Amino acid sequence: MSTIARGKLFDSLRACILTAMVAFSAGSGAAGSSSALASIAIVDANVVHPERDGDDAVVRHSTVVITGSRISEIGPGASTPIPQGAQIVQGSGKWLIPGLVDGHVHFFQSANPYTRPDVIDLTKRVPYADEVARNKARLAATFKVWIASGVTTVVDVGGPLWNFQVRQAARATDAAPYVAVAGPLVSMVADPKLELDDPPIIKAGSVEEGVRLVKQQLPYKPDYIKVWFIHKEGTDLAAQEAIVRAVGAAAHEAGVPMAVHATELMTAKAALRAGADYLVHSVGDEPVDAEFLALIKKNNALYCPTLWVLSGYGTALSGAWRPTAAEQRLADPQILSMLANLEPIPKEDMSARLAQRIAETQRPPTIMLQNLKTVQQAGVTIVMGTDAGNIGTVHGPSVFREMALMQQGGLTPLQVLRAATVNGARAARREPSAGKIERGAPADLVLLDADPTADIGNASRIFRVFKNGRMFDPDELISSIR
Ligand SMILES: [Zn+2]
Repeated sequence: MSTIARGKLFDSLRACILTAMVAFSAGSGAAGSSSALASIAIVDANVVHPERDGDDAVVRHSTVVITGSRISEIGPGASTPIPQGAQIVQGSGKWLIPGLVDGHVHFFQSANPYTRPDVIDLTKRVPYADEVARNKARLAATFKVWIASGVTTVVDVGGPLWNFQVRQAARATDAAPYVAVAGPLVSMVADPKLELDDPPIIKAGSVEEGVRLVKQQLPYKPDYIKVWFIHKEGTDLAAQEAIVRAVGAAAHEAGVPMAVHATELMTAKAALRAGADYLVHSVGDEPVDAEFLALIKKNNALYCPTLWVLSGYGTALSGAWRPTAAEQRLADPQILSMLANLEPIPKEDMSARLAQRIAETQRPPTIMLQNLKTVQQAGVTIVMGTDAGNIGTVHGPSVFREMALMQQGGLTPLQVLRAATVNGARAARREPSAGKIERGAPADLVLLDADPTADIGNASRIFRVFKNGRMFDPDELISSIR
């Protein structure tokens, strides 16, 4: 497509987005809210502060008061005043954590087997246009599964321009997470099978093209510029790094950070040299080294290990995907039934490379787990993220699969919670108080029936979720979308 045509496309899409935004917000006001009271007091709870260390991290018998969309008071149960008329939520024997943050999601993907025809082409069964239409029509339900799962903030690190519409829709909807987004991924390679009228991935063949792609996105005010750094054997890494550096410089000049998909040590280092602020995947091919650690610390960059996603593909495409208890309770039932009833994909529908990747996922991600421990010990800021939307990685409750793997990799439950709250809020570029339970912070909270600092699996035992000061019952949310 020519530059002029692409520019026109961006303009006409912008017009569509504005029209659709108005339509969406007009229809979404009444849905989802279960409490309109001015104040809510959560009394006698065990309040977890993931940003603190050791014994200070849990304060027992605490009262937290929410007024409007903010935390207005926090303190000991005996001395914290409760406003008259406040709705009382009994927190005895429960744990209150900040709302979870998934730092790596994609709304243009549904997790079902038809969502990545570039990886596995099943378009004879479901045309890709139908899949995209489904995901657009299902957006309000997808928002609800995030809230039901205790996830009150997500970062969509790249997709079609429609992503900006998703962000607007989320802001206008009560039962929706706070959404930060990147637009189309700037890449070394095109991905024609994903290209309808609004491509999620666009190739930059030169420094000039890379800079132009950034400038075309800036009017939408992206929270990130995202680079899909695919280095194929025999291609020129230095030339690719120069493109990424120019993309990063153009983003930084506009005050926008750069997120990069780079899964090998060599490309991850090139991305960091080029100015990456956020690595959204583990280094998975070899152990990270001193040079990598020096580069990531120099940039003060975030590291999202994204551990589960390959197993998601592996289990789904081999017919072995089974929902966890959390997924059974909290995922989109439509997606669950698609994944759980999936026949193994016939060999002839699968490339040799994909078959090999699926075989690899039968083993635990040893190098990624080792690298997680290494970056943690080096003091790098780790963010929890799932890559939800990819085949087998469902929106919402796959955060519990991801957090379990992080704990398996040697992080303490508190360190995992920190990655999934306060560090995640930083990835979402929210205000410093987001991801914490303190006076004045956004009232995004999760009340749990069990102690997540004893075992991170307990983070899935959700009693209630608070988003912007509104209280939600996860089971009610899910039954409302069946
Ligand atoms: Zn991703």
